[in-house]
Amino acid sequence: MVTTGHASNGLKAVSTAIGALFPASANQQDMSAIGICAPGPLNPLTGVIINPPNLPFWHNYPLAEEMRRAYGVSVKIDNDANAAALAEAKWGAGRGYRNVFYATIGTGIGTGIIFDGRIYHGRTGAAAEGGHIGIDRNGPLCNCGKRGCIEALASGTAIGRRARQKVSEDPKSILLEMADGDPQRVTSEMVAKAHAANDPVAREVMRETVDMLAYWLGNVIDLLEPDVIVIGGGVSSMMAPFLEEIRQRWVGACLNPSPQDIPLVLARYGEDAGIAGAAALCELGS
Ligand SMILES: [Zn+2]
Repeated sequence: MVTTGHASNGLKAVSTAIGALFPASANQQDMSAIGICAPGPLNPLTGVIINPPNLPFWHNYPLAEEMRRAYGVSVKIDNDANAAALAEAKWGAGRGYRNVFYATIGTGIGTGIIFDGRIYHGRTGAAAEGGHIGIDRNGPLCNCGKRGCIEALASGTAIGRRARQKVSEDPKSILLEMADGDPQRVTSEMVAKAHAANDPVAREVMRETVDMLAYWLGNVIDLLEPDVIVIGGGVSSMMAPFLEEIRQRWVGACLNPSPQDIPLVLARYGEDAGIAGAAALCELGS
């Protein structure tokens, strides 16, 4: 993705990506719609990119309108998590459910809400930022400027950071060996491996992570009572052994009388979640 230059260069980058899928020789009539997962904040209702920190040249940029003008087809734009949530609800782990809460846990935590089969956007399209629900107002500073967001506590980045702190205090952990003796090089991937090897520091880090995710999802259940919760993203495979434990912790942690009736499942789409999401946006009625 282009990160410097003018708005037209950004548009060119998108057109180049489309050109790779639809070379000039292909029949343009085969293209019925364009779906784009773009970095927020954006307004999916108008297709305007507002002011993404990593794409400063797209300030209040009408990307959908520009693309519509260039290709003459319907264009849908949304953020990655909303689009991936829709793909999971249509074709993936949330298929068959009307109300889906989706969370992608990776370097950050993104979420999407599918309400009655459609993306819930809120008033201006800024809804469903569940990764920035705070669970500790005195917690670590989040990239968004608030403190104690679940993203700042339980994302892959946060898991790595908490592990680095603990390894500095407990040099006997095998995590230190994995990081070639430098606590600052410990990553969340190493935590997963060390946990599998029964390392006490990694076990403690994962216990805390499970605690916080269970508490956060308990809040989500009390707010939305979804039919299913789908977890995707790079850290989701690391969480796979803990899904049942998280569900058990909801009992007594939710006001909801039957939280254990809500399935907590892994997403179908992994690295291809963005592609599936963009395709889902194109489907009629989405
Ligand atoms: Zn935040």
